[in-house]
Amino acid sequence: MAAGENPAGQAHPGSGDGQGERGNPGGGRGAPRAVLLTVDDDVSVSRAVARDLRRRYGGTYRIVRAESGAQALEALREIKLRGDAVAVLLADYRMPGMNGIEFLEQAMDLFPAARRVLLTAYADTEAAIDAINVVDLDHYLLKPWDPPEEKLYPVLDALLDAWRATDHRPVAETRVVGHRWSARSYEVRDFLARNQVPYRWYLADEPEGARLLTAAGANPESLPCVITTDGSALTDPTDTELAAQVGLATAPTGDFYDLVVVGGGPAGLGAAVYGASEGLRTVLLERHATGGQAGQSSRIENYLGFPDGVSGSQLTDRARRQAVKFGAELLTAADVVTLEAAGPARRLLLADGGQIDAHTVILATGVSYRQLAAPGLTELTGRGVFYGSALTEAPSCSGQDVYVVGGANSAGQAAMYFSRHARSVTMLVRGKSLEASMSHYLIQQIAAVPTITVRVCTEVVSAQGTDHLESLVLRDNSTGQTEQVDSQWLFVFIGAAPRTDWLDGVVVRDEHGFVVAGPDLVVDGQRPSGWDLDRDPYHLESSVPGVFVAGDARAESVKRVASAVGEGAMAVALVHRYLAKR
Ligand SMILES: Cc1cc2nc3c(=O)[nH]c(=O)nc-3n(C[C@H](O)[C@H](O)[C@H](O)COP(=O)(O)OP(=O)(O)OC[C@H]3O[C@@H](n4cnc5c(N)ncnc54)[C@H](O)[C@@H]3O)c2cc1C
Repeated sequence: MAAGENPAGQAHPGSGDGQGERGNPGGGRGAPRAVLLTVDDDVSVSRAVARDLRRRYGGTYRIVRAESGAQALEALREIKLRGDAVAVLLADYRMPGMNGIEFLEQAMDLFPAARRVLLTAYADTEAAIDAINVVDLDHYLLKPWDPPEEKLYPVLDALLDAWRATDHRPVAETRVVGHRWSARSYEVRDFLARNQVPYRWYLADEPEGARLLTAAGANPESLPCVITTDGSALTDPTDTELAAQVGLATAPTGDFYDLVVVGGGPAGLGAAVYGASEGLRTVLLERHATGGQAGQSSRIENYLGFPDGVSGSQLTDRARRQAVKFGAELLTAADVVTLEAAGPARRLLLADGGQIDAHTVILATGVSYRQLAAPGLTELTGRGVFYGSALTEAPSCSGQDVYVVGGANSAGQAAMYFSRHARSVTMLVRGKSLEASMSHYLIQQIAAVPTITVRVCTEVVSAQGTDHLESLVLRDNSTGQTEQVDSQWLFVFIGAAPRTDWLDGVVVRDEHGFVVAGPDLVVDGQRPSGWDLDRDPYHLESSVPGVFVAGDARAESVKRVASAVGEGAMAVALVHRYLAKR
């Protein structure tokens, strides 16, 4: 390790909570500076990189260099403990002991928001391309990169811009205090996690939780209590209060748009990216958290371009950044309850009383899990019984017996994910096998995990528990036999229903509530009632001209991430056609 290079492992004076500095990572005088860390086992290269970095960024960022992956990880742990932020990690690919990809993978656990760059020689380009998926690499740089003005700085400038743009939220010290088995505490944590807001979770009856409640003056009877980075305490906040307090946009900046997208899943995010990038004033309204169903997936393995899979939250983060980059407004906790035509404009009313008008609307409201109908389940929802992945709960399942209901891919992914934490995972499948409902690759993965058991022809008959789930009664439908099993964890993934009740009587829906569009609206040569244009509805257009539907909410849609994204893009093309021919 070289002296005088601000090497890894040496404390930097004046450090504090670097996460809170993210709005201004350069900081003012005396503020902790975010870190640019470089690791290369070749001392001369390592020094050269650090020198190049210092020359351009040394005034704003703290440059830390290390000469091995282990040393760099040690430095990162120290930085984490001090609460400082890391903006960019640059790792050499070929290092003995731990290569650059392995280092970046472990570094992600400590600083998931840091931008990641791999330094490679020409011969290792293939490894670098692989790393794009394994560690969600932002960039790879071929060595040597002289002159840095052309080959290094433009790349880093862009990465630092992206880091600043996404990392400005004052989130690191958001703390949630609640009861272990409180449904609302779970919802608040789920809301924060799915909106990618880091938080710390404290049990109210543990010392630190009790201390926080005392400091906040909160009543232990009205939890959860959320303490935000600026020290405000919110008692049992609504999603809107929470969103506003943690820095998520909840109100539009204008009152008229070219395009309003309802729903922030893959279809909605796809529409927002294409709409905004093609010059439409675009706002996306999301009731809960962007990402939709896909955002709950622990690993999507069949989406084009990600051969090693991508987690729903990574995909969502990238899509959000892309949409914002092009100028789309993304609003959270914006629950649309009414759609109406206001002359040529389309008007959307929100649950909080807000109103937004636009030339066009894309409905991308997706589907949600159906409730499992068995005695006891409703009362225990959020207290041991969860719909969807509830990934936030996985660490709490450590060493316990988990039950997963469902036989489709979402249930299979969840079983794989929970098997990393739980002692055992039992899949309860009503059908006779998984083959009819699950992808072959996932069936094979499940078969290879000894702690996962698949019970076919089996359903939940009832659930028992006082303040949380304690046991389940299961029935084997092939024999009629019932059995009681102890478990605190049941995750349900059965069928999906569209969320379109609010559109009843406004647009044509099928008998299941899916929105009918395009040629399917023309029956026996008749256009839908109320249709007043001298043309048939465009392909994804609903029975109200200028209102389109994309993704899972559309009747006869394919329930896949790729098709949802594709329909989002296609709907925007049709929006252009509609606007041009009005
Ligand atoms: C756990 C899981 C794993 C999956 N794995 C895969 C996979 O590996 N590969 C694959 O191809 N597919 C997978 N799927 C399916 C895929 O995620 C969906 O097909 C896709 O998300 C559909 O996208 P969408 O945008 O149409 O709807 P959704 O993802 O359902 O998003 C709809 C959004 O609209 C919002 N919304 C609804 N109503 C309103 C309203 N009134 N106002 C405001 N907002 C509203 C919702 O909150 C939601 O965020 C998985 C699904 C799940 C649940």
